[in-house]
Amino acid sequence: MDGLDIDELVGRAREGQPRAVARLISLVEDESPHLRAVAAALNPLTGNARVLGLTGPPGVGKSTSTSMLVSAFREQDLRVGVLAIDPSSPFSGGALLGDRIRMHDHTTDPAVFIRSMATRGQLGGLAAATPQAVRVLDAAGCDVVLIETVGVGQSEVDIVALADTTVVLLAPGMGDGIQAAKAGILEVADLFVVNKADRDGADQTVRDLKHMISLGRRELGASWRQPIVRTVATAGEGVADLTAALDEHREWLASHGELAARRARRAEREIEAIAVAALRSRLGVGQDALARLAKRVAAGELDPYAAADQLTAGHDGP
Ligand code: GDP
Repeated sequence: MDGLDIDELVGRAREGQPRAVARLISLVEDESPHLRAVAAALNPLTGNARVLGLTGPPGVGKSTSTSMLVSAFREQDLRVGVLAIDPSSPFSGGALLGDRIRMHDHTTDPAVFIRSMATRGQLGGLAAATPQAVRVLDAAGCDVVLIETVGVGQSEVDIVALADTTVVLLAPGMGDGIQAAKAGILEVADLFVVNKADRDGADQTVRDLKHMISLGRRELGASWRQPIVRTVATAGEGVADLTAALDEHREWLASHGELAARRARRAEREIEAIAVAALRSRLGVGQDALARLAKRVAAGELDPYAAADQLTAGHDGP
């Protein structure tokens, strides 16, 4: 295409060269036409990274906790990739997280790759782009990939659900337990962290959570009990408990066939998202056409099936 040497780029990423890794993730964000070749080149190099998702309301301490976990993994001599994802932000922060001061401890460490991500494309969205970025980091030799998302909305839930293990952070006194439950966080959480355990109300937050878990589990009937870990991320307190809980979950996943099952589900969503995007572009379906049809359906001029037929037939009305 434009002379990009995919094999050379992937080769450099595989050696862990940050610029090559950054370039590949940019291709993902831009929904580059090179992505097919990139994905084919990356594929044999992937499948080794442990993928962790971290979410919770703004201000709960995700960024501080991510940094704390990165330090813990580095002590185990593991290579770490961090994807900080903001579904509400239209722009990427680029290769470094200028606004995430707490990550600065790690930015000079060559065994840590940190990237904030947002999608510029319309079709796939971040839920589609994130697994491709994870593949890049996996192929680049990251032992652990941490996906950190801002907020607790549905798009965050979709994104963290891509992880092998999903961690939901809460903090005392934010009234967020109930909100989190509403956002479906309770179902996707493999483990809970009550951060800011140095603050008043931490015990109450743990009690509330325990109560919610006990209500939820009756329906789920799963054999994994979602643990609750208390941390003070600013002081690194509780990090050993957290990594122990993460290890325990990893063992549970492996011994129950859940790791393979989750990864298959993840692949299902990836394929679907790529296929839908490909279909849309093949049919030339744009947001404009969809919006025009939607107005006519809402106005009662057209039924939704007829509208869908028009959309897939590549024309949207008179
Ligand atoms: P995020 O928005 O979820 O990423 O939260 P941050 O990591 O940016 O943290 C928000 C604020 O809470 C910062 O001022 C942190 O220093 C502070 N913070 C994080 N963890 C703790 C903690 O365990 N205890 C206390 N007291 N403050 C914390």
